Amino acid sequence: MAYNLDEKQQPIRDQIKKFAEKEVLPVCMELDRRKESFPSEYYQKLAKAGYVGFAMPKEYGGGGHDNLEYITMMEELTYWDAPTGLMAAIPQLATFPIFAYGTEEQKKKYVPKCASGELIPSFVLTERNAGSDASNQSTVAVIEGDHFVINGEKIFIMHGDVCTLGVLFCKIADKEENRTRISSIIIETDTPGWKARTLEHKMGMRAATTGLITLENVKAPLENQLGETGRGFIIAMNTLDGARIGVAAQAVGIAQRALDESIKYAKSRIAFGAPIAKLQAIQWMIADMATRTEAARLMAYKAASEQDKGNRVSMEAAQAKMYATEVANFCVDKAMQIHSGYGYIGEFSIIEKLYRDQRVTEIYEGTNEIQRLVIANSLLR
Ligand SMILES: Cc1cc2nc3c(=O)[nH]c(=O)nc-3n(C[C@H](O)[C@H](O)[C@H](O)COP(=O)(O)OP(=O)(O)OC[C@H]3O[C@@H](n4cnc5c(N)ncnc54)[C@H](O)[C@@H]3O)c2cc1C
Repeated sequence: MAYNLDEKQQPIRDQIKKFAEKEVLPVCMELDRRKESFPSEYYQKLAKAGYVGFAMPKEYGGGGHDNLEYITMMEELTYWDAPTGLMAAIPQLATFPIFAYGTEEQKKKYVPKCASGELIPSFVLTERNAGSDASNQSTVAVIEGDHFVINGEKIFIMHGDVCTLGVLFCKIADKEENRTRISSIIIETDTPGWKARTLEHKMGMRAATTGLITLENVKAPLENQLGETGRGFIIAMNTLDGARIGVAAQAVGIAQRALDESIKYAKSRIAFGAPIAKLQAIQWMIADMATRTEAARLMAYKAASEQDKGNRVSMEAAQAKMYATEVANFCVDKAMQIHSGYGYIGEFSIIEKLYRDQRVTEIYEGTNEIQRLVIANSLLR
């Protein structure tokens, strides 16, 4: 395939196509249209097939795949069904802080169970007044004896309605020094005081549910702190650097699907006695979609390859995420225009769903305005 940088990529695409034909395509429209509820059995199938733990380290039960392989998997899974890709991205996002910053005991205790699907982990950062301004945390953990007591509320948390493990970011109150510092704590969510519900009427990505969490005097042992006190914000931002390349890959998958569907449709739809593919107006849209999708893909691959070399990729990840998600926006919009009525009404094509699924890629894991800040800050330092 022209768009493989490395020969490892094609077998992943082939494997996912087979998985999608058997497990994804038969159910994805139904999962999109029903009332939001986490599809547990479906998640277990993803886990069993190795997509949940795909890039988690092998020594802790993961697939041990590198970043380029990971985003190939993400692009391909999202091509077939965007929320399915997202469902596989969340455990990687949530578990990364544990395997990158945790103690040996924490890694051994939690990562294998996250990789196998036994635990459903969430990345629990955002609050009502701490979205883009993520450091403005109100959730506070107070140390009492050998444990933390945590109070607060978290919003927009992927799988937060059902997660069994929360990688929580909050302030730890240091009574002696009379200050608070952002830190990260692993929470087993069957602890009393952890309450969660599913957020409703989500525009797209509906199969992967999103939750609101309240913490009322939730207790967690002190040994569940991840990394040093005060390092939580850095842990969260470093985690998001990698995850943003995954979002870029989701966007490339969506853009490619919009393009492929548009090519197919343009060849078959007759207007004025000939396929609309013969019209230059349509050809230009297809040409622009294909060119931008390829550019977005190369940016995502470059960022992942740099990450695989161990280089810092904040700027490259932000560029790839921003550009690819805006390309995906462009492509779903053009696909809608090409399909017209048959795109707008979901009964006739997947374009209506693609249009809804795409939009959040420009918002989550840092809005595209925040990506522009990251890029500018890297350049103007
Ligand atoms: C479906 C979904 C899933 C999500 N999953 C998770 C998850 O699993 N875990 C988690 O912790 N969070 C998650 N989020 C939260 C997500 O990361 C935030 O919604 C996002 O960071 C934006 O925050 P906000 O919605 O509060 O918008 P705000 O921060 O209020 O931003 C509002 C607008 O102001 C702009 N803006 C804000 N500050 C600046 C600035 N300094 N310069 C320029 N423009 C600015 C923004 O770009 C945006 O356009 C999810 C969100 C959604 C919708």
